[in-house]
Amino acid sequence: MKVQTIDGHEADLPQTVLDSFKMGLKGPLLLPGDAGYEESRTVWNAMIDRKPALIMRCLGIADIISCVRFAHDQRLLLCIKGGGHNIAGLATADGSLMLDLSLMRGVWVDAEQKVAHAQAGCLLGDLDRETQVHGLATVLGFVSMTGIAGLTLGGGFGYLTRRWGWTTDNVIGMDVVTADARLVRATEEENPDLFWGLRGGGGNFGVVTGIDYMLHPVGPEVVGGIVAWPASEAAEVLNLYRTLAREAPQELTLVTLMRPAPPAPWLPKEIHGKLIVAILACHSGKIEDGEKAVSAIKSFGTPIGDVLVRRPYAQLQTLLDGTQPKGRRYYWKSEYLPGIEPKLCEKFIAHSEKIRSPHSAMILFQIEGALNRVEDNHSPVGNRDARYVLNIGGAWEHEVDDTANINWAREAWNDLKEFSTGGTYINFLTRDEGRERMEAALGKNLSRLSEIKSKWDPENFFRTNRNIQ
Ligand SMILES: Cc1cc2nc3c(=O)[nH]c(=O)nc-3n(C[C@H](O)[C@H](O)[C@H](O)COP(=O)(O)OP(=O)(O)OC[C@H]3O[C@@H](n4cnc5c(N)ncnc54)[C@H](O)[C@@H]3O)c2cc1C
Repeated sequence: MKVQTIDGHEADLPQTVLDSFKMGLKGPLLLPGDAGYEESRTVWNAMIDRKPALIMRCLGIADIISCVRFAHDQRLLLCIKGGGHNIAGLATADGSLMLDLSLMRGVWVDAEQKVAHAQAGCLLGDLDRETQVHGLATVLGFVSMTGIAGLTLGGGFGYLTRRWGWTTDNVIGMDVVTADARLVRATEEENPDLFWGLRGGGGNFGVVTGIDYMLHPVGPEVVGGIVAWPASEAAEVLNLYRTLAREAPQELTLVTLMRPAPPAPWLPKEIHGKLIVAILACHSGKIEDGEKAVSAIKSFGTPIGDVLVRRPYAQLQTLLDGTQPKGRRYYWKSEYLPGIEPKLCEKFIAHSEKIRSPHSAMILFQIEGALNRVEDNHSPVGNRDARYVLNIGGAWEHEVDDTANINWAREAWNDLKEFSTGGTYINFLTRDEGRERMEAALGKNLSRLSEIKSKWDPENFFRTNRNIQ
């Protein structure tokens, strides 16, 4: 069988070597043509189309150790797939041995200590589901099918960021299989350099097998959801957003977006496909406070749809899932913003009006709060001056539309990047964004990451990631 080596060459893997490797595994090892291979090799973004030589659906840490040892001995290119949601397709590589962690989705909650241990193949929804049994949650993102590992290793933000910081600020320990196939623990006390590096440095240092998160009391019911207006009211709605966001208590997180209306049942049929503006909200404090806090949104102008209500937090965490299916073509541009100026709102509306596909959107996420109160070098995720995230999200169905949609996103970004802090989110970088953008994402913390990389992975064995040299 032809495989890709770590040095970028093609090599032959003898059948006898493969057979003896297989004997030491518990989970299934998939080859092209095997049932499940296609599902496993594909990732969320259909722009990425790569074919690993071997896919190991790991059934535990022992499988991961066997694979790392085998790949190391054979000098095989290794890649790691968590939720497969990285837009740049970092989870997969042609000719590689892919570790697919999707069979490792266990979660254990210690409600008394307010700690959850999650296996690295968990999706966000797996963790929310188990922690919410106890009325607890940690900071996770907005789409429940995203993988916890990629999200956490790159930073992570969501509705609870304003209260408790980046996802990674809520991590208290990780278990990691290193390049020499050892299982090590990374915490503030054990291997603190590795622990620091993992909280923003991505999969550069090893295969994370499990993550321990701090939990906080949340829900199980919150006030959350979305209100939408026609695009003709965009200027007023964005002005409302700016004012409310500036004054909002940290229990309240506000997101605004413009996009063609999806065919959602809560939006009237005649508006489907037409440009709308919307505010998405989550108030995770007392229900009465939440209802009061969102009343100015619900009573504003003439909404065409309003599902901003009291509801289970776990349900709110799945509200956007339907808009982000696996298998579409996606291209994003993103920046951190220090605030929202009226001029930015004007440009935001102008570029939304030029959207080329029914699935694309422009979004502003509010994140200011807890993350701004921590030193920049607390962990490599940094960007402690970020108060909003701008995401220009191109999404479409067919390859023939690639150029038009990519150009739309790039033009909008070129026009809006003047409002940036200068920083960007590493987990939102597309595959055409290189070293300069990685530096923008990691800033001064990059040099310390390089030192940690040279200690824990001197050969650069873990390289299918935002690679630290
Ligand atoms: C629809 C959508 C919504 C999103 N929403 C948010 C959001 O609200 N907030 C937010 O912060 N981000 C969000 N993101 C970005 C998300 O954080 C990144 O895409 C992240 O990389 C996804 O993690 P994953 O495990 O699914 O990715 P994968 O594609 O599986 O992996 C991404 C990278 O992490 C590495 N990796 C994965 N698992 C491991 C492991 N166990 N050990 C070591 N390395 C590993 C991979 O090798 C790869 O380099 C969103 C992305 C999408 C597509």
